Amino acid sequence: MRKFGIAAFAAISMGAVALPANAETFVTIGTGGQTGVYYQVGGSICRLVNRGTKDHDIKCTHTTGGSIANINGIRAGDLDLGVAQSDWQYHAYNGTAPDKFPDGKFEELRAVFSVHPEPFTVVARMDSGINTFDDLKGKRVNLGNPGSGARGTFEVVMKKLGWTTDDFALTAELKSSEQAAALCDNKIDAIVFTVGHPAGTIKEATTSCEAKLINVNSDKIKELAGGADYYAMTTIPGGMYTGTPDEIETFGVGATFVASSKTSPEVVYQIVKAVFENFNRFKKMHPAFGNLKEADMIKNNLSAPLHDGAVKYYKEKGWM
Ligand code: GLU
Repeated sequence: MRKFGIAAFAAISMGAVALPANAETFVTIGTGGQTGVYYQVGGSICRLVNRGTKDHDIKCTHTTGGSIANINGIRAGDLDLGVAQSDWQYHAYNGTAPDKFPDGKFEELRAVFSVHPEPFTVVARMDSGINTFDDLKGKRVNLGNPGSGARGTFEVVMKKLGWTTDDFALTAELKSSEQAAALCDNKIDAIVFTVGHPAGTIKEATTSCEAKLINVNSDKIKELAGGADYYAMTTIPGGMYTGTPDEIETFGVGATFVASSKTSPEVVYQIVKAVFENFNRFKKMHPAFGNLKEADMIKNNLSAPLHDGAVKYYKEKGWM
């Protein structure tokens, strides 16, 4: 958070009016690639916050790194808040993924609320010969950019299945905003991306070329999903994307909104207030938010303790 004082000045010529001194607090929210849903979460929250800047002097902007980059950015003090998958929130707080969070337990990590579900999503070119998740072996696959939670979760799946990157003909590290074009330019056979639905990037992939979603529901996947509270089996509705008329079964995580205990309680309070006082408007800002319910958002998928600023608002509302 940076505060910039807008100095009051007094005009000395006729009819002088002095502007009041005020300091704006600039808040940065870490999100994900422009064609994902995190970007829409951050953008929607910022739009609601910025509508009230004249009352609370908070100005909000958002960046694009993905879950792990967002959590590490909050820890480093570069970001004030961020969107992160439930699995990576858990691992950051508990120190159980030292390869992603090398500084150990992030005990100051705080949950603010949970957002939309994020199924582990595989999209394959129709001509790739990929019909099951196991068919990915030997193919050209986008793993996602380092720093994204999606990439991390794919690595967990690979480990569970005993796969390494050598099992693929090619592995790309494209950002989510680049993957649909790579698929449709036939540079890769498949996209693997943990994301809410409908997602711009998956729409782009399935409308720009012939591509379809693939089930990820083997016994090993079900075992993985059953083994942790931050995973669950889930579905993606049939007909949501061109080329995929039937429901897809896969496992998934939940998107969550997080901060640090060092993030100002007043800032978190005002952000939470801006979202929940305008909740119907928020839910209409993206179709992935349409089914959100306040009571679920303040408890589901949250493994870090709630931030004090959020608790203050939830108590005022009588939700806690
Ligand atoms: N779940 C993805 C990640 O953490 C981002 C999804 C999105 O951009 O909506 O990397």
